[in-house]
Amino acid sequence: MSLKLLANWKLHGSKSFYQNWFAAFNQSYQGSHHDSLGIAPPAIYISDIARYSSNPGIAIGSQNIDQFSSGARTGEIASSMVKDAGGLFSITGHSERRMFFNELDGDIAAKLDLASSTSLLPILCVGESREERDQNKTEKVLEMQVSNVLRACSTLHSLTIAYEPVWAIGTGVMPEPEEINSIHEMIKDVVQSRFSNIHLHAVIYGGSVNLENSQSIFKEKEIDGALIGGASLNGGEFASIANIFNDLKGL
Ligand code: PEP
Repeated sequence: MSLKLLANWKLHGSKSFYQNWFAAFNQSYQGSHHDSLGIAPPAIYISDIARYSSNPGIAIGSQNIDQFSSGARTGEIASSMVKDAGGLFSITGHSERRMFFNELDGDIAAKLDLASSTSLLPILCVGESREERDQNKTEKVLEMQVSNVLRACSTLHSLTIAYEPVWAIGTGVMPEPEEINSIHEMIKDVVQSRFSNIHLHAVIYGGSVNLENSQSIFKEKEIDGALIGGASLNGGEFASIANIFNDLKGL
């Protein structure tokens, strides 16, 4: 699966929201296929949207899964349930999950293993805090996050990584595209050199991507795509970003 442009709707949406979203998306999207596109809606809508979106065929996935496959885990959602509902991928380790739900590297590794064993494409989010960046620790922190999580995995065989600087999420500020490019290069190098048994599909960038800045991001060779929060809530804007992505990445 070549998912490269993902919408993270977080805690937003309703039935009428997604119906309007698809109408706006379809009006603006100029691509001939939707293979790169995915939406992670609130989990309760996965099943509905997976049916609703079979035309235009955008992949649907979850924003999170539990680290256990079943059990006394009130309120949680298993990877197999996401698959059952028509989901094709799962985001894991988003910084909001790490911050507000105390997710640790070991939990995230278990989620990656489960996603992989139930044939969901796992998307691992990593990113440094503002403080870590100010202390010039970005590369070190990312190297540790990627290595600690992947070392703790036992059955994971492939994944996509989303580089999401915590300070860039929802703030309107982001690193320079050239800087993101070299960080992606470093992440690819860490995975390829230390985890040769794990296939890295892509490294995508997330943090304040919108219609205005998407061109400068997709121009960079090592930026394979984007994970988009705020700007993905507008179907027309997400379609326009996808049009730019298709043009620049030759899809
Ligand atoms: C995100 O939360 O994954 C994200 C990238 O959000 P935003 O695009 O709003 O910064």
